[in-house]
Amino acid sequence: MTSFDDRDGMMWLDGKLVEWRDAKLHVLSHGLHYASAVFEGERVYGGHIFELDAHTERLSRSARILDFELPFSLDEINKACNEVVAAAGITDGYVRPIAWRGSDMMGVSAQQSQIHLSVAAWEWPAYFAPEARMMGIRMQTSKWRRPSPDTAPVHSKAAGLYMTGTLAKHAAESAGYADALMLDYRGLVSEGTGANIFLVIDGKIHTPIPDCFLDGITRRTVIALARARDIDVVERHIEPGELANAQEVLLTGTAAEVTPVSEIDEHTFVPGLITQQLVDDYDAEVRRRDRKTTLVGTSSAL
Ligand code: PMP
Repeated sequence: MTSFDDRDGMMWLDGKLVEWRDAKLHVLSHGLHYASAVFEGERVYGGHIFELDAHTERLSRSARILDFELPFSLDEINKACNEVVAAAGITDGYVRPIAWRGSDMMGVSAQQSQIHLSVAAWEWPAYFAPEARMMGIRMQTSKWRRPSPDTAPVHSKAAGLYMTGTLAKHAAESAGYADALMLDYRGLVSEGTGANIFLVIDGKIHTPIPDCFLDGITRRTVIALARARDIDVVERHIEPGELANAQEVLLTGTAAEVTPVSEIDEHTFVPGLITQQLVDDYDAEVRRRDRKTTLVGTSSAL
């Protein structure tokens, strides 16, 4: 496995392309010590970044939630992402912008810290053969819960929020599962460690209200795709016991795309027609070259 800090190519750092191996920050950075960092994960399909505007807007919103402003405009950040993808000649890949507070202040307060921004991109071809994907993944409910909105900045894609995600995913993997289901502070179904969740119950799709976790860009795309097929989508609070009533379960996320789930704890599901339809529609949507309008619309208040 090639380490991510030891690769050929160029990255974007604070306004210009730099050699990949030279894209460094000092150990004494506020972002590292106090988790004042926000990031994005974007996918490149056929050389185009899917929903780039929505991702850049979310990055900027995430920063504001953590009480800092990005030192670049949305346009400049879009250009930086496209520049990195073009420089690396990526056709199908992943883009990772990240913004963090620098080294100017080393305490809890960091009002005058300089804000840094970098963008990296790497090849990431389609992961699973379509048949393998339809087998579904196995999940286990985590003991870790998504915090309430007055406990953590739950609507930002903040690095610090991934601490419990990593713990949950490690525990699930150690027990032989692919991912963890996280309940929220009320004990309701929330999401996976890096993807939103949908249940198919008697022909309708049910998904939790994103009131204490990320309202994913893929989530909104998939809701729009389902509605375009006249499939009802109900956003509501979902009790874990309701997993017993679901025939199909799926995860959505930039990295996960539409991933069928075959098992959560004692519940089993068989990826069926609705899952297959959404997998196919999402694959078509991300590769549509004539996409003029975004399905996710303008950024929500979240
Ligand atoms: N929840 C979490 C915790 C995530 O990390 C992600 C991936 N960004 C998502 C949901 C899905 O968001 P999106 O569809 O915008 O990638």
